[in-house]
Amino acid sequence: MNEQALDFLSTLLDTPSPTGMEMDAQRLWAEYIKPFTDEQQCDAYGSTWAVLKSKNPNAPTLMLDAHADEIGFSIRYITDSGFAHVERLGGSDVAIARGRKLRFFGTDGEVIGVIGNTAIHIRDDGDKAPKVWDLYVDFGCDSREEVEALGLRVGDRGVYCDGPLMLNDGKRLVCRALDDRLCGFILAETARKLKEEGTEPEWNIVFANTVQEEVGCIGAAMLTYRLRPDAAICLDVTHATDTPGLNAARYGDVRLGKGACLCFGPACHPNINARLELVAGENNIPMQRETSGRTTGTNTDQIFRSRSGVPATNLSLPLRYMHSPVETADMTDVQSTIDLLAAFIRSLKVTDNFYHKLGL
Ligand SMILES: [Zn+2]
Repeated sequence: MNEQALDFLSTLLDTPSPTGMEMDAQRLWAEYIKPFTDEQQCDAYGSTWAVLKSKNPNAPTLMLDAHADEIGFSIRYITDSGFAHVERLGGSDVAIARGRKLRFFGTDGEVIGVIGNTAIHIRDDGDKAPKVWDLYVDFGCDSREEVEALGLRVGDRGVYCDGPLMLNDGKRLVCRALDDRLCGFILAETARKLKEEGTEPEWNIVFANTVQEEVGCIGAAMLTYRLRPDAAICLDVTHATDTPGLNAARYGDVRLGKGACLCFGPACHPNINARLELVAGENNIPMQRETSGRTTGTNTDQIFRSRSGVPATNLSLPLRYMHSPVETADMTDVQSTIDLLAAFIRSLKVTDNFYHKLGL
């Protein structure tokens, strides 16, 4: 991976994108992907997409989706003595919140606060996880007026301060919100790879960075309705189960460094999965499998049932410690996922159609 790409990844990860406030990160992403694509747009709520156009006017459209938003906290109530109680924005893990630093975004810009942690010596509940309403953010103020003077009000949102960190000489990447910013990066790098290889895809390729996944896969639903793709691959993260205390019998066997993980289940179209497995095999690209007995818990669930149904699947990057400030991914998985998507796109013929057929 080149230095320019790694710089972009680092800047993207350092740019907060709490659900519903994704535009700063979206503008950055659109600017990066612009030279590799023909068209860039965003919709009313900020889902942003870039199109690589086929020369064929009758070409079908493949949508590649990742989500642009990240979990966080939102101010619910500011006490007279200047502490802010918070609401979870998406699936934030309350059990690990105390003692952490947060960046909040108020009317006058960024304000740093810390989530108070009553000392273990004088805490009644010992090691028990708090309720979300037990958490409070300390902005260094002594009154509500002082907090408001910093530009903070009920509804203002924040994310953890934790930025990107490489472990073991660049082998593993640690950051908050690798879910799913890392997949947005993969989309942009796939576009760059295609451009640099001079690939002229037979299908139109839409690179979609959708908003509000963490609160119900909402941006992907809006955008799939608008763009009417003929097939889609949803990129998200999945739980790596290769750390102590996880049971493969219960959660499956997914490892860092073994490639993207393809989901098999009712929402994931067998014809797209078959093509992805074929392409991975032909190009010696590692890939893992996982299963989901119902829907997938990702944007795939909104994409595949849009309008009259879109052949879609869910391809995931293995991730340790999901929804924590130390989400951890393997950089070889990032590269092999880019390679897989580029190979899949090169395999598409204008006559391809992933629908089931009766064959009568
Ligand atoms: Zn996600």
